[in-house]
Amino acid sequence: MLIRSGVVEAIGNTPLILLKEASERTGCRILGKAEFMNPGQSVKDRAALFIIQDAVRRGALRPGGTIVEGTAGNTGIGLALVANALGFKTVIVIPETQSQEKKDMLRLAGADLVEVPAVPYANPNNYVKVSGRLAEHLNASNPNGAIWANQFDNVANREAHIQTTGPEIWEQTGGEVDGFICAVGTGGTLAGTAMALKARNPKVTIGLADPMGAALFSYYTTGELKSSGSSITEGIGQGRITANLEDAPIDTAFQIPDEEAVPIVFDLLEKEGLCLGGSSGVNVAGAIRLAEQLGPGKTIVTILCDYGTRYQSKLFNPAFLMTKGLPVPAWLTQKSGVKA
Ligand code: PMP
Repeated sequence: MLIRSGVVEAIGNTPLILLKEASERTGCRILGKAEFMNPGQSVKDRAALFIIQDAVRRGALRPGGTIVEGTAGNTGIGLALVANALGFKTVIVIPETQSQEKKDMLRLAGADLVEVPAVPYANPNNYVKVSGRLAEHLNASNPNGAIWANQFDNVANREAHIQTTGPEIWEQTGGEVDGFICAVGTGGTLAGTAMALKARNPKVTIGLADPMGAALFSYYTTGELKSSGSSITEGIGQGRITANLEDAPIDTAFQIPDEEAVPIVFDLLEKEGLCLGGSSGVNVAGAIRLAEQLGPGKTIVTILCDYGTRYQSKLFNPAFLMTKGLPVPAWLTQKSGVKA
């Protein structure tokens, strides 16, 4: 098919890109699934589409209806673009700590944006819980109704990866895949892709790459949800077992500090021309750790989650990096004209 009927058909079927330095360093073939090439520039377009299609099929989302969601940004961008194409409205609740670029993009795409203070999930004012209440309220007051996308606990999210991401990786590698690893926000990408790959070959090793401040590394290594530290990465770092994570076949887990992930993001841009966000750095760092665990000669796939320009004011801003005590690479100092 050379012509796509609309933006919906342009989601997915992303390339797998050989990551040169990571592969040379480990003697493995490390491949990145280029999810930043989706229309909304992130992996979350897939989940957004499946959540909307599922709600339409169930009759919950009707023409002119509103989709409400709490999101770190990328899911909201995917929802807003698909909603525009299919005739729905979006209301997005976002923690105010998320990057300005994502908020600007959401407004540009026509989403009604509600910024809330970043508070833990246990707090009733957490962005996810606010979005759930807002959806109920809008459903009652809006003549066309409203749905809550509920990406964390709506398994239409991981279904997107069971039906698309996993099978694509299997086909693109001709079944030659020894390991798959990525970080978790909702868990949809990791659990869904893992389930699809394990169904085709139970010997594929599935790894979790967890940022500091998340509780899942502790959960999958000791059985206890416990977290410490923090990370500048956005969109990842989970503190509970979401419905999307339930029964995820995870074999091994790594904890990736920003000091390890951030230089990888810079190197991928400077040396390989891949402009990516921070979660991709966690993923590639995780792929390197998994490669070291499995030994040379293996094929390991990870996710290149979103496009880097979404974080120009933070990850690629020397002043921001310095406030976080992270090293500023010389080339970034030169490009931005800021003295380190
Ligand atoms: N990276 C980024 C930048 C994201 O926005 C997200 C989604 N929140 C993820 C990774 C994680 O994806 P998932 O929700 O499927 O776990």
